[in-house]
Amino acid sequence: MILLKSIPKIDKFVSKSCFDGYSKNLITKISKEVIDSLRNEILQSNVTNINEDDLVKEVISKYEDIVSPSLQKVINATGIIVHTNLGRSLISKQSLEKAMEIATSYNNLEYDLQKGQRGERYSHIVKTLQALTGCEDAIVVNNNASAVFLIMNTFAKNKEVVVSRGELVEIGGSFRVPEVMAQSGAVLKEIGTTNKTHLRDYENAINENTSMLMKVHKSNYTIEGFASEVEFEDIVKTAFEHDVIDYYDMGSGHMIDLPFNLSSAEPSILKIMEYNPSLLSFSGDKLLGSVQAGIIIGKKELIEKIKKNQLLRMLRVDKITLAIIEDTLNSYLKNDLENIPTLNMLHIKIEVLEQRANRLKTLIGDICKCEVINTQTLIGGGTTPNKKIPTIALSLQFKDYKANKIEQELRKHNLISRIENEKVLLDFRTIQEDEIEQIESIIKKVFN
Ligand SMILES: *Cc1c(COP(=O)(O)O)cnc(C)c1O
Repeated sequence: MILLKSIPKIDKFVSKSCFDGYSKNLITKISKEVIDSLRNEILQSNVTNINEDDLVKEVISKYEDIVSPSLQKVINATGIIVHTNLGRSLISKQSLEKAMEIATSYNNLEYDLQKGQRGERYSHIVKTLQALTGCEDAIVVNNNASAVFLIMNTFAKNKEVVVSRGELVEIGGSFRVPEVMAQSGAVLKEIGTTNKTHLRDYENAINENTSMLMKVHKSNYTIEGFASEVEFEDIVKTAFEHDVIDYYDMGSGHMIDLPFNLSSAEPSILKIMEYNPSLLSFSGDKLLGSVQAGIIIGKKELIEKIKKNQLLRMLRVDKITLAIIEDTLNSYLKNDLENIPTLNMLHIKIEVLEQRANRLKTLIGDICKCEVINTQTLIGGGTTPNKKIPTIALSLQFKDYKANKIEQELRKHNLISRIENEKVLLDFRTIQEDEIEQIESIIKKVFN
């Protein structure tokens, strides 16, 4: 066991000059682990000699692993605008700059500047939402899942909530409407069948213990064929007649009409507001194109009740979120839609995408066989299920590389592509203009 004697002494090892500039504490911690494991290996006779340079390399590599940021920028070349795994909506730089000024200085988050006394955290977005949607009042919480939970808990604890069987949604990340309801204390009253629910089903379900009639956006599926559902307009009327609350969990919730004729099937928040609903909720970072949040709008007396629920304190949003949402909503109000990246990507002209694809093709054309193609993509993120929109992609082929391998190699450089018909596609609907040169250099690095 002569080797055991030549194991480096920790103090001496960590004072090597090659560790200068690194955190001494962290280097020492890692070095102890590395040397301990070396000792074990020696005891099991798996080691024949000790190379200190290799130990140093191992320690530094572990160090870099720990300190390098885990959350990283990626290039989304999948074409899916609201990509649930890639951060959903992009926040506009302008909105974030405003939020930065608010967050890095003191501000009037809960201070009434006119009266010089305590103010209301949620007041900042109310006037904007009133002007934009005509709602009486509004509140913002952590995300739309919390909005659903808070509404159920406030109005339907131990009371019945009527929902169509066709709308008992499960979305990614295990949000299931029936389970959220159960957790909140609400009693789910299912009506209709998977494919058909009629207005009379809602009417027949109402009894003295009914709190609300709820509609849920079918975020990620469609029911086709012999199918019908009840329009929210009719649910609002029925709820009013029976003196119960109507509530639409819109999921994504887009403020204004969508392009590609999508709005015929998917009415906007502004359209739904014409029905004078009791309560609506929607996400801040799906098609609204802002930051993660859940926005609740509706009747003043109901929002007042929500504000009194202790749970709100647990679900509340911070100043950064409020500042970003206020700026996004202001952009809608002022019709400055350029400031909303999600909408820009949705509305950009096909010809512009084509020009960009051709630009990249010219930049990398000599190292790969690539072709600009017309194809289709989904908006994603539980927005417009199964609805395809047109897009432009660059299809990549490299000699001796299978599609899977190309996809993998690009992914190592944080470039996320998609495979369609066994070809790797870079979809320009989600590639930002300033990313084209970045993609060029990634491809040259990998395949040259
Ligand atoms: C996405 C979605 C939610 C959850 O919203 P988050 O903002 O992700 O919390 C709730 N209900 C529906 C119908 C949805 O589509």
